[in-house]
Amino acid sequence: MNITRRGFLKASGIAMGAMLCPAFLKDAKAKTYAWKLKTLEGTDTTTICPYCACGCGLVVTASGGKVINTEGDPDHPVNEGTLCAKGNSLYQTVNNDRRNSTVRYRAPGASDWQDITWDSAIDMIAKRIKRTRRFNFTRTDDDGNIVNRTEGIACIGGAALDNEECYLYTKLARTLGVIYIEHQARI
Ligand code: SF4
Repeated sequence: MNITRRGFLKASGIAMGAMLCPAFLKDAKAKTYAWKLKTLEGTDTTTICPYCACGCGLVVTASGGKVINTEGDPDHPVNEGTLCAKGNSLYQTVNNDRRNSTVRYRAPGASDWQDITWDSAIDMIAKRIKRTRRFNFTRTDDDGNIVNRTEGIACIGGAALDNEECYLYTKLARTLGVIYIEHQARI
């Protein structure tokens, strides 16, 4: 029988609970309620901790449009279910009144920030990339070799990107001719 590490830990937890609290398990209503208290009705999604270069895996449980629990992913090869204090507090970045929910923009020379739409932000970024690339594009080096590169743009990936996202990100950068490519986590 195939059993995942997460499934094994879940089953072990139930077995331990049954051994330690037989009286509790006799009460079917209490048992159901205890499960509901945590994640039974939520949807689990795996993700990567965005904080540091370790790239620990997490399971995020959401219910009713809200994150109700985050915990280390026991099936993730990097952390095998563990998290440091910072990663453990990840749910606070979502359930936080101070979290920005709009794109904030401060124009050059301006002192105030303004809300702009995602469409405006993406348009603005695309135009700046295009302009920078056009004015900093090198077709051949000093020896006449074709290089087709731009040294006016650098790319750095964040820790929350996984392997597949990094692959796509690198493809885009190389397509543009970017040669300065770095990534925080290198997971
Ligand atoms: S849980 Fe801690 S060690 Fe792991 S990636 Fe997040 S910040 Fe780094």
